[in-house]
Amino acid sequence: MSNKSERERQKQIQEKCQTILAQLLREEDNKYCVDCDAKGPRWASWNLGVFLCIRCAGIHRNLGVHITKVKSVNLDTWTPEQIGILQEMGNSRARAVYEANLPDNFRRPQTDSSLEAFIRAKYEHKRYIAKEWVPPSMPKPAFNIEEKKKKRTKPKGLGNIEIP
Ligand SMILES: [Zn+2]
Repeated sequence: MSNKSERERQKQIQEKCQTILAQLLREEDNKYCVDCDAKGPRWASWNLGVFLCIRCAGIHRNLGVHITKVKSVNLDTWTPEQIGILQEMGNSRARAVYEANLPDNFRRPQTDSSLEAFIRAKYEHKRYIAKEWVPPSMPKPAFNIEEKKKKRTKPKGLGNIEIP
């Protein structure tokens, strides 16, 4: 494969990733930051599968990449596997999982320090997590660029795209 066609392929992948991310952000589920409810998140933790505002993205970065892997929706490079996790999870499902046991009277914190304490409790200490939840063992790619022309539907199985 020539360098040129590899570059073209990478470009196609990035364009497709951006298209799907834009679609996901238009869904009602993802219009507000998963942690603080700020409108119009433009960051994501792709391993957790959630969309974040810039302030919560900064807090997530402080937690470390062993807990949460943060990317800018528009400024970073994405892979179909990372997009697949965001498609599978999304903010509503993530709240059902990570906030399953929030107290009834819980009010979402708004100051930086209380927000950081909440985010650490939620993802680092998993204080509110649904006990029965089992994380998916293998990410499913959102699409397979090789099959794009033949099939437009989302692949059902574990795709086999190879991204270096
Ligand atoms: Zn936020």
